[in-house]
Amino acid sequence: MVDRRKELEGLRDELIERFDRYKAHKEQKGGPLDKDMEDQSIEVVNDEVIEALQQEAENELRQVMHALKRIDAGEGDDCERCGEPIDGRRLVALPYTTLCRDCADLG
Ligand SMILES: [Zn+2]
Repeated sequence: MVDRRKELEGLRDELIERFDRYKAHKEQKGGPLDKDMEDQSIEVVNDEVIEALQQEAENELRQVMHALKRIDAGEGDDCERCGEPIDGRRLVALPYTTLCRDCADLG
């Protein structure tokens, strides 16, 4: 059995690091505006990509923290919606999930 808590903590640290990197990337720009148009449009696309990645990291981090909290409460292996145990293979594949396959399929 994989130590799911340890795995989630590792994932959490990784996500925080990623999130900080995106944030730093956004903050360090705002440099000279004398670039040509082509450069600027590339810059805008990059910003949108970074923004999306940062959002994604934030959402994932929230999910990981939520799963960790449920593990601490002793209910980490049970589905948050129906209360049934979550399949072990599913927990290995998606360590941060808090829903069984059936409930996840329902959306
Ligand atoms: Zn369920």
